[in-house]
Amino acid sequence: MTRRAISILGATGSIGASTLDLIRREAGKWRIVALTANANAVELAKLAREFSAEIAVVADEASLPALREALAGTGIAAAGGGGALVEAASRLADVTVAGIVGCAGLAPTMAAIEQGGTIALANKEALVSAGEVMTAAVARSGATLLPVDSEHNAIFQCLAGNDLAHVRWITLTASGGPFREWPLERLVRATPAEAVKHPNWSMGAKISVDSATMMNKGLEFIEAFHLFPVGAERLRIIVHPQSIVHSMVEYRDGSTLAQLGPSDMRVPIASALAWPERMDTPCAPLDLAAIGELTFRAPDEVLFPATRLAREAAEAGGAAPAVLNAANEVAVAAFLAGKLAFTAIAAQVEETLGRFAPPAPTSLAEVIAVDAEARYRTREMMEPA
Ligand code: NAD
Ligand code: MG
Repeated sequence: MTRRAISILGATGSIGASTLDLIRREAGKWRIVALTANANAVELAKLAREFSAEIAVVADEASLPALREALAGTGIAAAGGGGALVEAASRLADVTVAGIVGCAGLAPTMAAIEQGGTIALANKEALVSAGEVMTAAVARSGATLLPVDSEHNAIFQCLAGNDLAHVRWITLTASGGPFREWPLERLVRATPAEAVKHPNWSMGAKISVDSATMMNKGLEFIEAFHLFPVGAERLRIIVHPQSIVHSMVEYRDGSTLAQLGPSDMRVPIASALAWPERMDTPCAPLDLAAIGELTFRAPDEVLFPATRLAREAAEAGGAAPAVLNAANEVAVAAFLAGKLAFTAIAAQVEETLGRFAPPAPTSLAEVIAVDAEARYRTREMMEPA
């Protein structure tokens, strides 16, 4: 049997670890092409050795000497910097897991798309920022874009074999995050440590904060808008605190299909890795009797305005989603650094969107330019001279 070639962008992160855990369990079936990280050379080298990767890449060039040293004598190539990351992502692979966090993952994800294989997309910020630039590249290259984000993977499964013309609603479920029961007085003082403690999922810091502000659901709304083109008016969000129903599709005849599973990213990752087949995961079977209740309620867009901002950005189109994403990345980083109040994150995103409305980007270079300019302006607004 020929082994399937796989590259993992963001191998040292939460999505990377979940992916490698699955690969480890069926090691004989996979051949690792590229593993990448931002700056953690030691951890990356450890993984590259364990999985006999062809190449290991650190995005941060200053970490390259440490990576070279850690891989000396192994025959595994080491590289560093943005260009090397793109080069590694463009190496032929059957599957590329796009697991970098933020718009930093856009250029390597686009490079993987250009080589025409299957892209298992976790890096939602890349699709939110690039929108049609990415979906057009997928169509042109013949790549297969499979969503790993649990909601979109659920929708993808619920849509299987159905025509989008029959869809009445696509409903994204949201856990509501750790602060879903908090009043405004408490939200204002929420700390980074409280925000990254998600009740259901174990994830990287940035997406955990996004879950707390509900911007994660906002980004996912835009992600769904591009992956499943039924129109923004057919996309809805519902709060479902147990995170068991991962999303739903309602058809014109009144049938609603939902995908259920444990809150473990190995399930949607396995679905994308094995598609159109299925593979085993070590996840505990769903015990609905033990869970007892599945509850649902409408989101509160007054306390958590991020979903409204994202819906408006999706409807505005053009550069708005890229500006929203860039402003959010900068604001979340400032919050994590203790320099911005929790409730100021969405407020800052709204301010940046109101003050910076560039023309629609039509190429990867233009998306990256909009992202850079929106970051610069957001930082300026946050720290006036
Ligand atoms: P993480 O912070 O745990 O890992 C991020 C990875 O990206 C690491 O390998 C890191 O080294 C790398 N990275 C960070 N900055 C980089 C840069 N500037 N250049 C190159 N590489 C860089 O994040 P995560 O939780 O694994 O999330 C990754 C992506 O998957 C995000 O877009 C997130 O929204 C999405 N996602 C994550 C989960 C989850 O459960 N963790 C679920 C759904 C979607
Ligand atoms: Mg999700």
